[in-house]
Amino acid sequence: MKIPDNPISRAEILSRLISYRSVDLDVRGGKVFAYCYNPEKEIEETTKQAYVEYLSENALDPTSFPSLVRMEREVVRMIANLLRGDDQVVGSFTSGGTESILLACKSARDKARAEKPHITQPEIILPKSAHGAFHKAAEYFGLNPVLVGLDRKTFQADLAEYEKAITPNTILLVGSAPQYAQGIVDPIRALGQIALKRNLWLHVDACVGGIHLSFQRQIPGFEPIDFDFSVPGVTSLSVDMHKYGYAPKGASIVLYRDKSYRRHQIFSTINSATYALVNANIQSSRSGGPIAAAWAALHAMGSAGYRDIVSAVMKKTYQMVDRINAHPHLRVLGKPDVCMFSIASDTINVFELADEMRKKGWYLQPQFSTEWTPMNLHISVSYGNLGVVDSFLDDLDAATDVVAGRPPLKVDDVRHQVIEMLEGASPAEAMARLSQAAGFVGNELPQEMAFVNTVLEALPRDMGAYMLAEFLNDLYV
Ligand SMILES: *Cc1c(COP(=O)(O)O)cnc(C)c1O
Repeated sequence: MKIPDNPISRAEILSRLISYRSVDLDVRGGKVFAYCYNPEKEIEETTKQAYVEYLSENALDPTSFPSLVRMEREVVRMIANLLRGDDQVVGSFTSGGTESILLACKSARDKARAEKPHITQPEIILPKSAHGAFHKAAEYFGLNPVLVGLDRKTFQADLAEYEKAITPNTILLVGSAPQYAQGIVDPIRALGQIALKRNLWLHVDACVGGIHLSFQRQIPGFEPIDFDFSVPGVTSLSVDMHKYGYAPKGASIVLYRDKSYRRHQIFSTINSATYALVNANIQSSRSGGPIAAAWAALHAMGSAGYRDIVSAVMKKTYQMVDRINAHPHLRVLGKPDVCMFSIASDTINVFELADEMRKKGWYLQPQFSTEWTPMNLHISVSYGNLGVVDSFLDDLDAATDVVAGRPPLKVDDVRHQVIEMLEGASPAEAMARLSQAAGFVGNELPQEMAFVNTVLEALPRDMGAYMLAEFLNDLYV
């Protein structure tokens, strides 16, 4: 493909874009329970307009765009106050949860380098439920992840194991509020005590739940769950605006107990013939759009707006959890603390259920098993889903009946099939054989993903991760 010789009209461009989109998940009908968090139409229009208004401004240079500094300060201060930080708490606006987490890990590493230079193999303690972004940070920044198991009933980080995992090389403790997979908050107060006792940095990943939990606490009838700066020992927090903050994507906040921690986040150089570079973020040039849109979301929703949504979403979530737990084939893992949970089954392959639901337009997110959790499907409920929950539950019943009525795709059978198929194959041949078996044709994805997901479930995790990387490398030109 080449750049077109001659310009194409705006109308033609937009119509082509919309036709490209016909193959995508429909994120506007409320049938997708991951990836997108849609607010009311009116609020979405406001944030969109704010985004476009600031599309061209560049937050790279605070001296040229003071209005972006002002908005970033206001957004950070509003979120720091919501998370009960005092006026020493500072933060940065980032492009997403991953960037917030990368920056917190990099800051912790650089603080340890400065203050504990004898540590040459820094370790970070990660409950198995911590988000993959921490593993990415570990790989990017040369940190050794030390994994901690979960309580088999609550799916919280196992505290006894957590304490044992700490060594003289530990530089960072991590807990989640909540962990994404099952929507369950780690015992943050206990982790804070461990952090204080050992004089260690504790990062709380409140990417998905920070805003939701803060408003949930304000609503009568909900048991308050403490995870924020009110908990002694919490050093930093990541809070996404583009999830339950209902801002458009490209918006997250990383917060620190005080400026001395954030200092390690900032990079500056004048060793280049180009302009002086001083960045708090990983990105350098960055659009003002996400900042303006997040600022607009907070103002358009107001605390009252967030509380209303949290109430409504939790009411629906409880209905869903109760109905699924009453189902003979399905159950919800643990007792979710927020509007996110996961569905497992002792009788059917839930990845087949995801495919069956996909045929009806629903998207449920497959998650692989761990030593503590069976394979399951993740559901995040947000405002945009509320109108269709009842039909979702009916379709879930029907789809479960369909899957239960035919012979199941068994993980052990798939494992044997794959072992036989891969016998004597080079890595490249192995990929080719598996792709063919899974129904990949060239760059086209298969209609049904249950087999692919079950293969990944059956394979050792490192091998599965290798295959995914190979797949992505082949998918894009
Ligand atoms: C979504 C999420 C992240 C990563 O955020 P991105 O915005 O996708 O980069 C990290 N931690 C938790 C708990 C999350 O839910």
